[in-house]
Amino acid sequence: MKTEIGTDLLYAAALLRRGELVGMPTETVYGLAGNALDSDTVLKIYATKGRPHFNPLIVHLQDISEMSKYAEVPAFAQTLAERFWPGPLTLVLPKKKIIPDIVTGGGDTVALRVPAHSLAHELLSLIDFPLAAPSANPAGYISPVTAEHVCEQLGGKIAYILDGGTCSVGIESTVIALKQDELVVLRAGGVTLEDLKSVAGSVKLPTQATGQLASPGLLKSHYAPKTKLILGDLANLIEEHQSRKLAVLALSHLPQNAAIVASEILSPAGDLTQAAHNLFAAMRRLDAVDAELILAERMPEHSFGVAINDRLERAAAL
Ligand code: AMP
Ligand code: MG
Repeated sequence: MKTEIGTDLLYAAALLRRGELVGMPTETVYGLAGNALDSDTVLKIYATKGRPHFNPLIVHLQDISEMSKYAEVPAFAQTLAERFWPGPLTLVLPKKKIIPDIVTGGGDTVALRVPAHSLAHELLSLIDFPLAAPSANPAGYISPVTAEHVCEQLGGKIAYILDGGTCSVGIESTVIALKQDELVVLRAGGVTLEDLKSVAGSVKLPTQATGQLASPGLLKSHYAPKTKLILGDLANLIEEHQSRKLAVLALSHLPQNAAIVASEILSPAGDLTQAAHNLFAAMRRLDAVDAELILAERMPEHSFGVAINDRLERAAAL
């Protein structure tokens, strides 16, 4: 199959109506989108990504008003959606029958989100079904933040990639579950814990999440480059591994005299929002330089630093 990249929304919508998959830009990362209400299409999504069926998909809606078509919506979920949608927050809610079991990994909850990207929004307005869309990369690898990234890995497997430029947030959505009025973060992401705390009194972190609520998709090894990655304090790591061919991922500056083959600075000003935006493209470039090891700096544990550290920890887990 020949893969085209472009901005033809009508063509993308026509493919989706025929049950085909389309690469879709969102503000978080690019999604591999298909009709969420059609089991055969959803099976194609899992197959194309090589994603295990127990790892459920996020369903993307055009508008907040559609939420109650697909899930039971407690008042607190409505409040959160009104505050953060369109945007990088995914709500896990009790699913309604119309959502096929294959979308939810057989579970009785569904993950919903309204993306904040004009092309995604326009695409959703042209079709009369929601879009199941996991990140458009082979399972386990770094998520794509440009149409070219999608094409590098899924080229030949899908007909069309809608080109919406570089994703503005650059890191996946924050996934949360609700337990009465308690909010449990299943995956840190594009909405920070600080933002969530401003709306919800109590926010439980992923590590404190109970087994019962844990997200089936929180695989330990994920977002991983092919090159082995180690996370920690950069100066120490470089000293320890100085005999190796090193690539380095740093927040704002490199330790002096570091003998390395390639480096990426995520934000010269140390801005964690900018760092998240640059993270996945930087990881891909470092993965391409043929280093023996990628050494990554642990970020400060606040704001977007929490989500970046989560991705780097999973990238380091083998
Ligand atoms: P991705 O599609 O790659 O961004 O990953 C989606 C994330 O949402 C995965 O970590 C899934 O496990 C999580 N997720 C999706 N649906 C559910 C659900 N029903 N319950 C818990 N987590 C979910
Ligand atoms: Mg993914």
